[in-house]
Amino acid sequence: MNFSLLPHELRPIAEKVEQQQRISEADALKLLRCNDLNALGVLASAVREQKNGNYVSYILNRYINYSNVCILSCQFCAFAARKRDPHAFELAIDEIEAAVRDALQSGITEVHMVGGLHPTLDKAWYIELVRRIRALDPELTIKAFTAIEIRHLAQRIFKTSIRDTLEQLREVGLGALTGGGAEIFDADVRDELCRGKESADEWLEVHRTWHQMGGRSTCTMLYGHIETLEQRVDHLRQIRELQDETGGFTGFVPFAFEPRTTVLAHVKPASAVEQLRTLATSRIYLDNIDHLTAYWVSMGLPLAQVALSFGVDDLHGTIMEEKIFHMAGANTPQDLTVKTIEHVIREAGREPVQRDSYYRRISSATDRANLTPVPQRDELVCA
Ligand code: SF4
Repeated sequence: MNFSLLPHELRPIAEKVEQQQRISEADALKLLRCNDLNALGVLASAVREQKNGNYVSYILNRYINYSNVCILSCQFCAFAARKRDPHAFELAIDEIEAAVRDALQSGITEVHMVGGLHPTLDKAWYIELVRRIRALDPELTIKAFTAIEIRHLAQRIFKTSIRDTLEQLREVGLGALTGGGAEIFDADVRDELCRGKESADEWLEVHRTWHQMGGRSTCTMLYGHIETLEQRVDHLRQIRELQDETGGFTGFVPFAFEPRTTVLAHVKPASAVEQLRTLATSRIYLDNIDHLTAYWVSMGLPLAQVALSFGVDDLHGTIMEEKIFHMAGANTPQDLTVKTIEHVIREAGREPVQRDSYYRRISSATDRANLTPVPQRDELVCA
């Protein structure tokens, strides 16, 4: 890659990228303040190329929100409801089972399931939920629950340790943890945005425990609300440090905050430039996480397509039904066909590949049954 046309102030960072060296937090801040989008694209594309060649992956998945009833009221959340609220919902296990059975007909390889911190659903309900989905297809990956849900289940519902809760859920079929709930790790931001939610240390501890058990998860960042750029970089630093320790994160998924129907409706949404800059900086800074996702549900498909030139190598999935961002005002479609995803990737000059929940490539239906098991911690290649 020819970096000779890059602005002078980015040359030291370009040298590090060229030599595959780690950039510092000061470098990341410089990138987040850089107005030269072309230069950011060149640098982030170099890292993407080193890690993933010209491939862009996607997954056939089905989102399910089992309930939006929640005991917390995070400021940025338009999804949660109290039990008596008119927009509160709670799906029966039969309904969830039917939705997953339908989606399996379309070839999904993953069900992605999160909900609020429900005050009354009991342990038997959660165990039965995971067990019934697992029984539908032993190959299907059940990717479920955020770190805060796991803490809620451990403390109030299962009444046991985080590890024991995770063990019990894994025993009945939990395959991977979702990365949601990380928001921005800074304590002051969390206090203002989501008081009562778990701290950064608690979020990291749930993922650390899961990784130590040999599990894999994704990690996220909800940005573009009240945080400073320094706090954004600090969030990335904490993700990178845990990944150095465990190697258990498979991919990073940053989301721009969607303010429209939240109590923070006065916040100006992150612009397209801001989103591309954040993706590119994440790609360059998180040298130990192989995959970077453009979450088309929040950013829209056209911008997600442009993001393929800013370090992104994954377009997430078909999703089929999304509630969290749409209840906050997103007006993007709720599902995508494989044809559309592949067209968008090809049009951007990249090669589409279907992946599983661990970013392993699936090129045919029979591949799915023959994929090698998820590598254990010591042998993880894509750390
Ligand atoms: S973000 Fe999660 S924990 Fe916070 S109110 Fe919404 S559903 Fe509840």
